[in-house]
Amino acid sequence: MDKKMMTIDLNSHVLLDKAEKDGVETMYDRKQGFKSQCGFGLQGNCCRICGMGPCRITPKTPRGICGADEHVIVGRNFARMVAGGTAAHSDHARDIAHTMALSSRDGNYKIRDEEKLIILAKEWDVETEGRDIYDIAHEVADVALMEFGKPHGVARFLKNAPEPRQKIWKDLGIEPRAIDREIATIMHSTHIGCTGDIDSLIHMSLRTALADGWVGSMIGTRFSDILFGTPTVRETEANLGVLEDNKVNIILHGHEPSLSEMIVLASEDPELVALAKEMGADGINLAGMCCTGNEVTMRHGVKTAGDFHQQELAIVTGAVEAMIVDVQCIFPALAKVADCYHTKFITTSPKAKIAGSTYMEFSEETAYADGYKIVKEAVLNFKNRDKEKVLIPELKSKATVGYSADAILGQLDRVVNSHIDPAGTLKPLADCLKSGVLRGAVGVVGCNNAKGVSNLAHVTIMKELIKNDILVVTTGCGASAAAKFGLMTKEARKLAGKGLATVCDLVDIPPVLHLGSCVDCSRILDVVGGTAKLLDMDMSDLPVAGVAPEWMSEKAVAIGSYVVASGIDTYLGVMPPVTGSSRAVEILCGELQDMVGAKFTVNENPQELAQIIIQDIEKKRVHFENLVEERMNEKVEAGAEA
Ligand code: SF4
Ligand code: SF4
Repeated sequence: MDKKMMTIDLNSHVLLDKAEKDGVETMYDRKQGFKSQCGFGLQGNCCRICGMGPCRITPKTPRGICGADEHVIVGRNFARMVAGGTAAHSDHARDIAHTMALSSRDGNYKIRDEEKLIILAKEWDVETEGRDIYDIAHEVADVALMEFGKPHGVARFLKNAPEPRQKIWKDLGIEPRAIDREIATIMHSTHIGCTGDIDSLIHMSLRTALADGWVGSMIGTRFSDILFGTPTVRETEANLGVLEDNKVNIILHGHEPSLSEMIVLASEDPELVALAKEMGADGINLAGMCCTGNEVTMRHGVKTAGDFHQQELAIVTGAVEAMIVDVQCIFPALAKVADCYHTKFITTSPKAKIAGSTYMEFSEETAYADGYKIVKEAVLNFKNRDKEKVLIPELKSKATVGYSADAILGQLDRVVNSHIDPAGTLKPLADCLKSGVLRGAVGVVGCNNAKGVSNLAHVTIMKELIKNDILVVTTGCGASAAAKFGLMTKEARKLAGKGLATVCDLVDIPPVLHLGSCVDCSRILDVVGGTAKLLDMDMSDLPVAGVAPEWMSEKAVAIGSYVVASGIDTYLGVMPPVTGSSRAVEILCGELQDMVGAKFTVNENPQELAQIIIQDIEKKRVHFENLVEERMNEKVEAGAEA
């Protein structure tokens, strides 16, 4: 296949040509190099958990040496993916909690959203009356850190879910107790000679995934808002065209805002801006990539350079002085690509050192000084730029971003009649769903996957959904795709059906809302949970869904699993490695429906997947509308009795 057929992004096409001319190998070349991928791995039925293996299941060898069959092997592999994803999100959250423990009035990290901190402190029974805000912050941070390993009880945030959902979790025994405990238990149970029952492995996977969505990711999002500010609506631009010819271009890639916030501050430091000018540049141009990009665009409007599949191509522009990274989704290949240009590939986290990079450790204790040093390194590198090698592609799109749950409430207030209803509630959204003006709402999340055409599934599905009056909320690299393809502009209302377009006009939003990074999928849980509570329903009763059209990471597997466990049907555009076990498919794509009120559906054709989602949302509306009527009748009866 022509490499250019592997992405619909036209900037990427231009840079793929340049990479070839410059003799640079990219992901696109490596993907082509794998003529076919191993069928055992694709189906999930190879095992290398112990030294007797590796074992793989075939008709002639239907069991591994220990006797594990295909169901056990697939189940263990799936459970370990969920554990890996939960660990990644949760370790990110742990760092943010530690950062909050370090916050101080005159330090590098301050409390920016005091109101949100107080609300959380009250939720967690931390005394707030008459106390210094930083004392409260430190105690809240300590409580959060206990959520990783507390010996008793269940996770604190679970009680924020609608009551019927909490009951399902309790009855099924999938309430997580503590994040690290759930991850460790999976690693234990998937050791040779432990759990030999796929039902049990999936059950455990759901509990661990809930420890991600309703604990780790939720801590990550809430604490980031408290420390760095709750996102508000703002304008930005997206795609590699945001790089500037005459400025020091710095790309921030990775995930954790503790680093990126300091880089944002340092890049505005007058001394460093002056140094950039001394080097012959007009200033410093910061642009984000992947989830760090999402964090800084949501809070500061920093431009988005691109998504997961554009990380190497960004360096191929020859215009990037430094690619600064922390953890997760960073190609080790960046070191080799950076070698072909003047770009400094700077790793900063002891958790993600990469051979061939320039390692400049970032510590929260010395945050600003570290950030300053790293940005200075980038600025000093401007003089090494080879103008002959620079090609910044032209395309960039405007985008409106910053739709935290609080910002969404703010927009909804525009249509509240203050004589009748209170402000600051999700009622207008619930009303639109009830009336059918909005047919439903779908979270389009997740990565890019080299198995498909980059960005194609995201964009196709989003366009189909909004055309059918389904509001789209998005995070992660799905959000970057939407921003790049102009779906986060007011003009994109033209692509929406009449109902959604009218809502967008009245509430003044684009039809696709940027909710943030991957940990910010927890914002989706907040909005769906809040709407369900308002309507006195469970989350599984609402006409909502989640879709990961181009997922690739273990984090995405954890997200999909907690979304399903929360009662939200989840659609995948890439088949997970489970087809080696008919029982795994039976449970994940069928029986989960009876257990948790939602299930997985997989279809690798984006057009078909979009149609399936739309049809399912319409089916769900019948149940939803009946419930709405039931609730109304109950109210009327209660009124009559009173
Ligand atoms: S755990 Fe069993 S199936 Fe897996 S490698 Fe060891 S012997 Fe083979
Ligand atoms: S969406 Fe996927 S690829 Fe993108 S940053 Fe998140 S996990 Fe990584």
